[in-house]
This record gives sequence, structure tokens and C-alpha cells, in this order.
Amino acid sequence: MIVRIAVTGAAGRMGKTLIEAVGLAEGAALSAAIERPESSLVGSDAGELAGVGKLGVIIAGDINAVINDFDVLIDFTAPAATVANAKACAAAGKKMIIGTTGCSEDDLAQIHGAAVTTGICMASNFSTGVNATFKLLNMAAQILGHDYDVEIVETHHRHKVDAPSGTALSMGEAVAAGLGQKLSDVAVYAREGQVGPRTKDEIGFATVRGGDVVGDHTVMFLADGERVEITHKASSRMSFARGAARAAVWLAAQPAGMYDMQDVLGLK
Ligand code: NAD
Repeated sequence: MIVRIAVTGAAGRMGKTLIEAVGLAEGAALSAAIERPESSLVGSDAGELAGVGKLGVIIAGDINAVINDFDVLIDFTAPAATVANAKACAAAGKKMIIGTTGCSEDDLAQIHGAAVTTGICMASNFSTGVNATFKLLNMAAQILGHDYDVEIVETHHRHKVDAPSGTALSMGEAVAAGLGQKLSDVAVYAREGQVGPRTKDEIGFATVRGGDVVGDHTVMFLADGERVEITHKASSRMSFARGAARAAVWLAAQPAGMYDMQDVLGLK
């Protein structure tokens, strides 16, 4: 069975890469594409926009205009759009892959609400390499324990609007879980002025923004006399898009519920 996939945010950096990745994925076909209603690209061919040649899929300006044309929606847009799309997908019984980051607690509650009636797979990072890294970080934290100071540094292109990255936060959660802590109890997101010495259990975050960096993350475990660094560097958005297309094919066969990329990869 071929899973019919819609990509929203079709003209975005991830949207264009997703259109290409869906075309390359086994068991999947692009059947719809969506952009903001005011976008001048509504009405264009999605394949031509993504640089992969004409596909005969015309970009719509409203999800409801194409709601019967797909099985799974892939959404890498912005929190408000993603929450509205989750409600539309739940009402129509359509499944959804969410890559959007920067969602508030309230946004997440609404997305979880939609997952009561449909299958939703949400991840801060859909790359297989990053998801393997989450597992490695959890193991490293369990082995190294509380004697190592943990600091997370991430770098992204100048256009990224949320900080720290969703991936950095997920890395922090993987470490905190390995140490038996909750990230919200130990995270330190900024240091400026007379902040005093580092406390024992804090997990510090530092954000770098600039240029065209797709996404670099380094987690440091620092102790007296040594340090361990676990780094992931993404050089192409294709790593995220390939994972999202794979997750969409997997999700098509799952019952209603909330999933993440660790479920798709069988890492739980
Ligand atoms: P972008 O700004 O290039 O693209 C976003 C697109 O969404 C734009 O084309 C915009 O017009 C469109 N959009 C906004 N509202 C819309 C609506 N209501 N309907 C239809 N389209 C709408 O951004 P990007 O770099 O492609 O990133 C998008 C999101 O994906 C960000 O939150 C980013 O952090 C996240 N991201 C996640 C992963 C992951 O693996 N989870 C990887 C990369 C980026």
C-alpha cells in the first residue's frame, strides 16, 4: 500500500526538502502540499518549487481544501499553524508528523488532545543519527553519574527563531533522565553577570546563531582531569526529511496515540 502524504509549509527550508524526501521514500507518495493562504506560491507545482521537476501536486492555501487527498500530514511550520492542523487532522481522522519546534506547554496540551483520536508522531529531531545520540547520551549519563558537569552547546543558522533548539532540549532530557532528574529542575538557559559558581546538578545550555549552519550539537561531560564530548553535526536537512518520511510510512499503520522518533526506530 502506498501512503499518501501531504507536506505543509511546502515553501519552507524543510518543506522543500520534505517534498524531495517523500518522492524518494519507499511506500510513500506526495499527494498534497499546503502553504499560508497569503503565499504567492499557492497554485504552483510543489515539485517545481522543490527543484525536483513537475509532480502535478498543486500547492493549496487551506488544509481543508485537500483534507481528503492524504493519509498523513507532515508539518514543519510554526506552533500556531501546527496546533490548528492537529485539530483539523484529528477531526478528519488523518495522521500527522510534527517537526515544528518552539511549542508552548499549551500548544503541546492541544496536540496531545488531538492524539486521543488520531496518530501523531512528534519529534524535535527526525534524524536517525540524532536519535541514536539521544540513546548514547542517556547511557553516558548513567555511566558517568553526578560527578560530571553537563553543558550543552548548539549552533544553528541565522534564521532560526527559537532557542535553545528543540534538539538541545531533548538532549538535556535524555541526560537528565539518565541521572534520575527532571530537566525543568536543573536546566540553566542563560548566564550573565555575577551568577556565582556552578551548582553541582545544573545542566547548562549555550546557543550560537549565524550563517547557514543546519544544526550542530555538543554535549560535554566535564570532570576534574577529563571531559567527554558527544557531538552530532547535520550537514543537510535531508537527514531530518528522510526520517520524517520514514516515520510517516510507519505511522500510517499505527492506532491513535502520541509517538516520537524513538518509537519509529524501536529504541524504547
Ligand atoms: P521556514 O521558515 O523556512 O519554513 C516554515 C514554512 O511554514 C514557511 O514556508 C511558512 O510560510 C510556512 N507556514 C507558516 N504558517 C503556515 C500555515 N498556517 N500554513 C501553511 N504553511 C505555513 O522554517 P524551517 O527552517 O523549514 O523550519 C520549520 C520548523 O521545523 C521550525 O520549527 C524548525 O525548528 C523545525 N525543524 C525541525 C526539525 C526536526 O527534525 N524536528 C528539523 C529542522 C527544522
